[in-house]
Amino acid sequence: MYTFVDRGDRSLTLRPEATAPVVRAFIEHNLGAGSLPVKLYYFANMFRYERPQAGRYREFWQLGVEALGSAEPAIDAEAIALAMEYLSSIGIDGATLKIGSMGDENCRPAYMETLRAALAGKAENLCEDCRQRLALNPLRVFDCKNPACRAALAEAPKMIDNLCGDCRAHFDAVGALLGQIGIDFEIDPMLVRGFDYYTSTTFEIQSANLGAQNALGGGGRYDRLVADYGGKPTPAVGFAFGIERLIMALPAAGAHNAEAVQSTDVFIAVIDDKDRPLAFKTAVEMRRLGLTVEIDYMGRSLRSQMKLADKLQAVSVVVFGPDELARGKVTVRNLASGEEKTTGLKNLLASASKGFK
Ligand SMILES: [Zn+2]
Ligand SMILES: [Zn+2]
Repeated sequence: MYTFVDRGDRSLTLRPEATAPVVRAFIEHNLGAGSLPVKLYYFANMFRYERPQAGRYREFWQLGVEALGSAEPAIDAEAIALAMEYLSSIGIDGATLKIGSMGDENCRPAYMETLRAALAGKAENLCEDCRQRLALNPLRVFDCKNPACRAALAEAPKMIDNLCGDCRAHFDAVGALLGQIGIDFEIDPMLVRGFDYYTSTTFEIQSANLGAQNALGGGGRYDRLVADYGGKPTPAVGFAFGIERLIMALPAAGAHNAEAVQSTDVFIAVIDDKDRPLAFKTAVEMRRLGLTVEIDYMGRSLRSQMKLADKLQAVSVVVFGPDELARGKVTVRNLASGEEKTTGLKNLLASASKGFK
């Protein structure tokens, strides 16, 4: 964590992640009092102390989702499905989903002893940090990127093979639900998170386009965290994506999803400057109907306004001309077909909301 002393001699820490803050908010505002599960999301900046490098910035942004209140495997599957479908909706395809399990208070303590014993036998192969981790929390060795430590772990017993009956059933149920909705995954016995609060399901989503820092995000269950913070025991599951990683994994600019570029429903062109206030008011009213409306603010000629409408891929152009307006009418042109018709000003909003059909 990025901790420092400020000029007032106070020790400050910049937040490293948002699950714990969400849990605090959940308890403090008694969000569990209503119907469960409570589903929350955040989009926030976080900080890390480690030396910044490509894809690992000191200040970074996370998009996260948390569902608190249910222990059902189906909500793990829902969270994972949401994460995967979010990725395809923004144009990131081919991401790999890995799932694992952290066990729970029934099976993890015994496993930790087994792991500690296995790694202690190879302590001379472990890095300095991991030798210390071994005493404190051997699961933290899974966070180490040192090849020698990875090799020692690869041969060590895995949590996934040492789950109790309940944890095994939960893990299998999540896998079956994912299979049912056509989401492919790999079981990764090395997917263990160093954060102590994780229990049961863990998952990570990796991109093929990212090189060494290939994790787009991940998450899992934290069934004990609410109780650890003093709340009523509340099972929960969530995930977070690193926004910078998502951006790096997006296909090259421009290649992405042309449909995502917002087209303009209506462009309002004005011939006589005195009609600009009316055009402005009409644009605002059309936007209130949910239409995307553009209008010229640069004093362009009619010809230039029509060019701009074309560039903005406007579906329709409404021309506010002085002669038509004098008769209470405007001209509507469909840019694709070139078709033109006149419409009464009074009906303009109703007609616009139906696409001038
Ligand atoms: Zn290590
Ligand atoms: Zn268990």
